[in-house]
Amino acid sequence: MTSTSTPVRRQLRPSGRLLPEDTRRHHRALLLQLLFRYGPASRADLARSSGLTRVTVSDVVGDLVTEGLLTEQRGGPAAPQGRVGKPPVLVQLAEESRQIVAVDLSADGVVTGALLNLSGGVQHRQTHPLEGRRGQAAVDLVHDLVRDLVGAASRPVLGIGVGTPGVVDAGGVVVDAPNLGWHGTALADGLRTAFDLPVFVANDANTAVLGEHSFGDTGDGGLMLVRVGTGVGAGLVLEGALLHGHRSAAGEVGHVVVDPDGAACACGRRGCLETVLAAPRLRERLAADGPEALAQVGTQVGVALAPVVGTLNLHELVFSGPLELLDGPLLAAVDRTIRERTMPVSGEELVVRTSALGDDVVLVGAAVLVLAGQLGVS
Ligand SMILES: [Zn+2]
Repeated sequence: MTSTSTPVRRQLRPSGRLLPEDTRRHHRALLLQLLFRYGPASRADLARSSGLTRVTVSDVVGDLVTEGLLTEQRGGPAAPQGRVGKPPVLVQLAEESRQIVAVDLSADGVVTGALLNLSGGVQHRQTHPLEGRRGQAAVDLVHDLVRDLVGAASRPVLGIGVGTPGVVDAGGVVVDAPNLGWHGTALADGLRTAFDLPVFVANDANTAVLGEHSFGDTGDGGLMLVRVGTGVGAGLVLEGALLHGHRSAAGEVGHVVVDPDGAACACGRRGCLETVLAAPRLRERLAADGPEALAQVGTQVGVALAPVVGTLNLHELVFSGPLELLDGPLLAAVDRTIRERTMPVSGEELVVRTSALGDDVVLVGAAVLVLAGQLGVS
């Protein structure tokens, strides 16, 4: 029997007419992205590397200079010998022209917020103790923190970025974050209404991997960041884009079972990766059995992650969390185990390391959410 139903068409991009403002937004984002990635450039350089006409580049750059997002400076490299003329005027991103409010809800027992400039520099930091708040009380605390930070800003605020534990949908609704008692909590909408600013909310591990990708000195070869704290989560950037997954839950490797007879996990199963790799468990193991126990955990982690590295041909596997637990026998065992269990082509250029951004990785990533959403750069 044949089906007569129309096949579902899968589109990669939204269809529809491109409006002039879309084109304009695209041109802005393209030029800002080039300046963000590669630093100061002349208008001629920008036209060459963007493929836009000189006239379009001059128009867009003129607007951005007027808005204060770009500054001009005379004095690029001197003209090559035999050529006359003034050095070109270079334009660059005015990194102090705006501030970004970033919030990190990933730590145990505290909420941390900061003001950052447009190059991811943390300028002002504030921490409020959570003191067991859950549900609406925890939402209220986030609002208090954001209010303090907006009040402390010395430049116009570009937007608010939040990295939170749990599964977060594309609209900034926290679908499920058991530790904060949030279920279907519209965190982004609430902040948008309260502060009348653009708001971007994402899972903390996804936020962290964006921070590492933009400001952590990585390449474009495929990056997985495993965040080790009270729980364990991961985020992936592949081909330059954050991987979301079918139900916005990509990277939930912390609840993959590595030992069916292992300890009970908060999710209701036994022996999830989180039950061996979460920071409190690592501390217990280190105190009881010494560094060799960390190497044993590293082997378990390597066994769990080798299929991921092999499948995706990742370039970098980055761990973020307490360095005294991660950076040593644990990471060495992860590295060795993955190489033993994958083809040479998977392991040869694989880099296994800890995050270059330390404890700020979620804050910096939350700023990247805003940079990407508001300026189209990341
Ligand atoms: Zn679990």
